[in-house]
Amino acid sequence: MLCIRKQLLSLFILCLLLTACRTAAPEPFEGYDYDPEGVTETHDRKITQQHKRTTGFLADGVWISNEFVGARVSDVYKIEPYRYRIEVHPEISPINNSPWYAFKIWSDEPAEVEIELVYQSGRQRYIPKISNDGGKTWTNASNDEYTHVRSSHIGRLKLSVSEEPIYVSAQELFTSVHFNRWLDEITEKSFASSQTIGLSHEERELKKLLFSVTDGADERGVIIIYGRQHPPEVPGYIVSLIFLETLAGDTELATKFRNYFDVWAFPFMNPDGADNGHWRTNATGVDLNRDWHHFRQPETAAVKNQLMKLHDLHNRKVFYGIDFHSTGRNIFYPIKSSNSTFPDRFTFRWADEIRTEMPELSLGIQAFDTDSPIAKNWTYKTFGADAVTFEVWDEIPRSQIEMFGKRSAEIFMEMMLDEYYSLHEVDQ
Ligand SMILES: [Zn+2]
Repeated sequence: MLCIRKQLLSLFILCLLLTACRTAAPEPFEGYDYDPEGVTETHDRKITQQHKRTTGFLADGVWISNEFVGARVSDVYKIEPYRYRIEVHPEISPINNSPWYAFKIWSDEPAEVEIELVYQSGRQRYIPKISNDGGKTWTNASNDEYTHVRSSHIGRLKLSVSEEPIYVSAQELFTSVHFNRWLDEITEKSFASSQTIGLSHEERELKKLLFSVTDGADERGVIIIYGRQHPPEVPGYIVSLIFLETLAGDTELATKFRNYFDVWAFPFMNPDGADNGHWRTNATGVDLNRDWHHFRQPETAAVKNQLMKLHDLHNRKVFYGIDFHSTGRNIFYPIKSSNSTFPDRFTFRWADEIRTEMPELSLGIQAFDTDSPIAKNWTYKTFGADAVTFEVWDEIPRSQIEMFGKRSAEIFMEMMLDEYYSLHEVDQ
C-alpha cells in the first residue's frame, strides 16, 4: 500500500515537473508584429505575376510602361485628361508594408500630368525617386511635385513629361545588372574573388564575394556580410556596398585589417525579388529573412551551405555578422546583452562610436531576443559570434550615405583589429 502511495506521489511530482517544464518553454517565434501571419512557414507559395505592358492614352499622347527590369505597376487608369491612377499590387498578400513601384512615363508633346499611386494591401511608404537619364542618377520628388495623402494612404505626383522617358521608382533602381557590374569591378582587386554558389528559383546566379589575401596571418578572423534579402531596401544595399568597398580599400587600415580578417559576403541575396520589383519576398513568395531555421529556399540554403564550410576551416574564426536592411530610421538591432557573444557586446560599443562621431545620423539601437529565424540569429547560434541587423533609414539624405558606409567601416576595422590583437595577444 505504502509502495503504491509512493509510486502515486512520484507520478504526481513527475506530472508537476512536466507541466512546469511545458509552461517554462518559450513560445515558438511566429513573426514580428509587422509581419503577416504564417511568415515563418517558408514553403513555396504561389505569387501573383504582374503583366508587363506599355499603356498609351492616345487622346493625351501619354505612355506609361513597366517593361524593364525591376519595374512594378499592376494597373493604370485614366481619371481625367492628364490625370492617371497607377495601382500597385504586391507579389503575395498579406505582406509587410513595403510597397515597391517603378515605371517610366513619356508623352508625344510636352505635358503636365498628375499620378495617383494607389496600393493594394499596403500604404504609401517611399517618396518617389525620379531619373531623367535612364536610371543613372536619381533625385527625390520635391515637395511641390509630391504629396502623401495620409487619409487615403496614397501618393500624388505631378510631373512635366516629354518625349524622353522619366523613370519613377520607390527607391533607386538597383537590379542584378547593377550588382553584377559592381561585383566585376571589385573582384579586379587581387585579394577579391566571386563564386556562384547556387541558382535562384528563376535561375539567377547567387553570388559569394570573398576577400582573402594570400600572405596574411595563418589564423584569421572572418566577417560575414548579408544583404538585400528584402528587395526594396535599397539604402541598406548602397551602404553595404560602400562598407565593402572600404574594407577593400587601399588605406593602411584596410590593408592591415585584411591581414587578419577574411570577408565572406552575400550582398545581393534575392535577385529574383529585385528584378521582379517585389515588395518583400523571393520568386515563391517567401520572406528570406524568416527562413534561417528551415532553409527551404535556394537563396538561404546556398548561403548556409557556404558558411558551414567555415566549421571545417580550423584556422578561421567567425568574429561578426552584419545583415544590411532599411527601415523608418537608422537603427542597429543587436543581440540582447543577456546572451553572451564573442566579441563581447561588440554591436553596442560600435554603435556608441558611430553615434559619437556622426550624431547627425541619429543612430538608434534596439536589442532583440535570438528566437526569430533571421540571418543575425543564425550567425550567433551557429558560430557564437556577435551579429547585427544594420538598418538604414529609407529616406536617409543620399549625401549622408557615403559617410555612413565609409566611416562605420573604418571604425569597425579599428575595433575588430583590437579584438583580434587581444584574442591572439598580438604585440602591435
Ligand atoms: Zn529588411
